Amino acid sequence: MNVLVLNSGSSSLKFQVIATDLDRINRHQDERICRGEVERIGGEAIVTFQPGAEPRRKFTAPLRDISVALDYLVRYIASDKSGVSQIRSSADIHAVGHRVVHGGEMFSESALIDGKVLQGIEDCIDLAPLHNPNNIKGIVAARELFGKDIPQVAVFDTAFHHSVPEQAYLYAVPYHLYRRHRIRRYGFHGTSHRYVAFRYRALRELTREQTNIIALHLGNGCSAAAIRQGNSVDTSMGMTPLEGLVMGTRSGDLDPAIVNLIATKEGMSPSEVDMLLNTQSGLLGISGLTNDMRLLQSELKENADRRVQLAIAVFCYRARKYIGAFLAAMGGADAVIFTGGIGENSPEIRARICEDMEWAGLMIDPARNQQTIGQEGLISSDDSRLLAYAIPTDEELLIARDTVRVILGQPHPS
Ligand code: AMP
Repeated sequence: MNVLVLNSGSSSLKFQVIATDLDRINRHQDERICRGEVERIGGEAIVTFQPGAEPRRKFTAPLRDISVALDYLVRYIASDKSGVSQIRSSADIHAVGHRVVHGGEMFSESALIDGKVLQGIEDCIDLAPLHNPNNIKGIVAARELFGKDIPQVAVFDTAFHHSVPEQAYLYAVPYHLYRRHRIRRYGFHGTSHRYVAFRYRALRELTREQTNIIALHLGNGCSAAAIRQGNSVDTSMGMTPLEGLVMGTRSGDLDPAIVNLIATKEGMSPSEVDMLLNTQSGLLGISGLTNDMRLLQSELKENADRRVQLAIAVFCYRARKYIGAFLAAMGGADAVIFTGGIGENSPEIRARICEDMEWAGLMIDPARNQQTIGQEGLISSDDSRLLAYAIPTDEELLIARDTVRVILGQPHPS
């Protein structure tokens, strides 16, 4: 089955086509047919396209909205120009899997999209006003293009965290606010946390019940998840992705009174402050330079800039604090997993986060750490009681696999 995986944003469309079925899933022989991204939809869009393992190419096309972009993309994939031999027409796409950001309290697992599910995703717009409407546009565009007979599946960023218990998801605000507005922790990056938990147990040949880990997804967005017996029992992101770790442009945790204070002192509206905390804060806010960790690290090496140093220090300290908190919350863990652009590729940041954690039995092996860049591997030393792994995430693969399993009515293990 050729599954088109879509992640539709406000002006971008990330995509992959993955050939998979139950047999391929069992044998880990899913095939990545092509992948890429359309950016700056609305004007002269930039298309990045990579067939199989061949080099990436980039070109532009005038694409006014998501529907036009998707139509263009599928025609391109099916054309001779693409170099993709498996897809000759839109009929060679057999299913579509969508990344949907917010599934609220309604969706605890991936779902076959019908009128009711679409309505459910719409009902969650209040919880993710910046994301769910774009995800819906992607679903509608795919339905227009492929027709009603092609199954579409929604895979929710929040679903994996449904197992988080009440004591961890409730905020200590008047309870009626939870009842009226569903104000609570939902958590995000669930597909990524679920994928690395699955890879960890495959690497160590463990059962789901034996999976006790803290997963750190450190990318442009960052979150930690406490996973006990295979289930998420706490996570750092909250009602929105703003809470928790320091991120590229998001502040993560702060005293909620600061919002009003900034609004008053800077003459800003609450939504302007919200924007500031989401887009001007985090690594970018402290360094005053960039949200890009790779650039920050080279700036630190070359110029030893004080604010860059501070940004990295605050980032690593917050991550370490969450490891400690989650160790206490879950009664100890067997491993810490690093994933996401920073977690997968930066041995320096991983080492900084794990500094002085010997008390918890966590010791990084410098050589292993240095060698494990962009690939799976153990990075802790042999005498480390708490293991550490780097595991590249693959949300698209999990979305494609869930799509197949949901369509075939197979239970999908997390
Ligand atoms: P993601 O959102 O998962 O794509 O991750 C993006 C983040 O990963 C950015 O801050 C990148 O600078 C960071 N990143 C990617 N490669 C490296 C690297 N080799 N060293 C440090 N950070 C990296």
